[in-house]
Amino acid sequence: TTNDSKVLDTPRDTLIGGLLTADFDEASCLSRYQKSSLYRKPSPYKPSEYLVSKLRSYEMLHRRCGPDTKAYKEATESLNRDENYADKSLNGECRYVVWMAGYGLGNRMLTLASVFLYALLTERVILVDNRKDVSDLLCEPFPGTSWLLPLDFKLMKYPYGYDYNKEYPRCYGTMSENHSINSSSIPSYLYMHLLHDSRDSDKMFFCQKDQDLIDKVPWLIVQANVYFAPSLWFNPTFQTELVKLFPEKETVFHHLARYLFHPTNQVWDMVTEYYNAHLSKAEERLGIQIRVFGNPAGYFKHVMDQIVGCTQREKLLPELDTQEVEISKTKKHKAVLVASLYPEYSQNLTKMYSNRPTSTGEIVEVYQPSGERVQQTDTKIHDQKALAEMYLMSSTDKIVTSARSTFGYVSYSLGGLKPWLLYQPTNFTTPNPPCLRSTSMEPCFLTPPSHGCEADWGTNSGKILPFVRHCEDIMYGGLKLY
Ligand code: GDP
Repeated sequence: TTNDSKVLDTPRDTLIGGLLTADFDEASCLSRYQKSSLYRKPSPYKPSEYLVSKLRSYEMLHRRCGPDTKAYKEATESLNRDENYADKSLNGECRYVVWMAGYGLGNRMLTLASVFLYALLTERVILVDNRKDVSDLLCEPFPGTSWLLPLDFKLMKYPYGYDYNKEYPRCYGTMSENHSINSSSIPSYLYMHLLHDSRDSDKMFFCQKDQDLIDKVPWLIVQANVYFAPSLWFNPTFQTELVKLFPEKETVFHHLARYLFHPTNQVWDMVTEYYNAHLSKAEERLGIQIRVFGNPAGYFKHVMDQIVGCTQREKLLPELDTQEVEISKTKKHKAVLVASLYPEYSQNLTKMYSNRPTSTGEIVEVYQPSGERVQQTDTKIHDQKALAEMYLMSSTDKIVTSARSTFGYVSYSLGGLKPWLLYQPTNFTTPNPPCLRSTSMEPCFLTPPSHGCEADWGTNSGKILPFVRHCEDIMYGGLKLY
């Protein structure tokens, strides 16, 4: 093993094919430039020139409109007057989309990327709700400005409260159902409800007819917990642009996440220390992310059997050699990185493989950075561990993740890996087959609209475009880019 596999030995393509701007002070956010060395091989997916130039012009827009600018001040003042924006003369130069924090970290990263993509497509400025711990987790992505929404922003309660829901009078779905928004009556702000319980009227916000109205509204507040990027392709105007931005369709989250998300130095220390201590020396790394949904959650034998069944059947881990032959001379080291709230899964794998000969002669070492037992979203150190583990997971060569888990989605997509997906068990039994190999590295939009826009109304949303299809890892519905 050479030092080559350690994080920190830079020079590589640190700006990831121009995806990142060079306009940052390196020490303030080490991960921005060291991240590419976490992935020992450069990503086989290159961002398109069009995406790169779009990002550079977005950065200029954000600098013109960000907090602390005259444009931002004027735009927030317009909220006090709440005029009718059907009158074009009122339109300022900047329009905004505010991302609200909610749900687990995986959900947050998926929705941040989705909202940012929507901002790119509509030339809005994204501002993020920082009443929670975003700035303890992620560095600023845009140079010379900030993406954090000032805490005195009028439409957010401080301290945190769940201010918005479907019944809210400025909720877009509700207004469109009541016909209280039309081209002659455009409010100064709208609330977009893009959660698992959204109605069609909420979910169809991206369609052309809806966008004609929404586009004129200076402020959008988005509360989301699902990766809605796949549905944006149903709008023909967006689609034309998206095809140019992402000629490789399954790279949307991969590129956006590598552009937007840079763990803070505190989190990055956790990543690099763990990587250098346990993973850098292995010849091969396998990630296994185990999320147990449902109540009770915890350690279950049927899940353990599923993990062993999947990894051995797919030849990700060797079988044990029953003939007790000597450990082979090749002694190839394989590191298994386990992420789970429960430490028992890696403990059992360790027990299984430690000092035992395997059929391939490989030596299997198992590591699990944490076992937090319960989700404690919004506790700083807990969230930092979760983020560090997503990055460690994304650095592996092959990855197995739990169906439906946004934590898993972020991990494999960041890494540019097509995962093996562990089916969600029902009735406390091991699914058969235990897992399948995905053909796409995109996250799944778990609760998409059931049909398309205008002309495609009535067509199953998984059948409208050849590259937007139902997800493999959930029973029905779900949309994913392939
Ligand atoms: P999802 O619920 O699986 O879709 O993923 P989320 O990330 O949205 O929410 C789960 C949250 O539980 C994470 O953000 C963590 O706070 C915690 N969690 C779940 N699994 C793990 C894990 O393997 N490691 C760590 N450190 N935290 C986890």
